[in-house]
Amino acid sequence: MVSKYERGSVRPITRWGTEVMHHLNQPVTEFGPELQTLVADMFSTMDAAEGVGLAANQVGVDLQLFIFDCPDKDGNRVEGVVCNPVIELPEGKDRRLDEGDEGCLSLPGAFTKCVRPDFAKVTGVDEHGEPVSYEGTGLLARCLQHETDHTQGTVFGDRLSRKYRKRLFNEAEELASDYPEDWPITPMVAHEDEEVSAN
Ligand SMILES: [Zn+2]
Repeated sequence: MVSKYERGSVRPITRWGTEVMHHLNQPVTEFGPELQTLVADMFSTMDAAEGVGLAANQVGVDLQLFIFDCPDKDGNRVEGVVCNPVIELPEGKDRRLDEGDEGCLSLPGAFTKCVRPDFAKVTGVDEHGEPVSYEGTGLLARCLQHETDHTQGTVFGDRLSRKYRKRLFNEAEELASDYPEDWPITPMVAHEDEEVSAN
């Protein structure tokens, strides 16, 4: 299936530890050509990195914006752009937790289990300022939560116990030499059996 979003230029992916990754980003207020270029570049960058989601601060831009292209629980492709996202998660008896593997393009290559609600709904506006709403279970629920977190300056390492966080950082350190500084402009060093569903 062809994506409904235009592609632009691949940009380098910002890593954890960079300031813009760790504070609440600015709301999107301008929906002009600069934003359209950013969105197109983000899709190209996500494609190049083989991710399922990408937030603006992951290309160094301080804006509450993310894109995603992620399968839902039935394997159907769902893609979208969300500016100024607001997440809604189930409460009470509807709240069920899923302990799935999670990774992040800004800590490339490392994965660990991260507990999250198995359903999420996100509302916001698209790249033209029109209201949008997305919801889902499975990997899509995880992706919507992970990306909304990015816009708030939260990385999934912040949601882990100290033990799991340490393990994650150790794994990332072992793999760091596979990822050039300007990755994914310069591709990673290829290995067989890589797992790629990071956001
Ligand atoms: Zn991420």
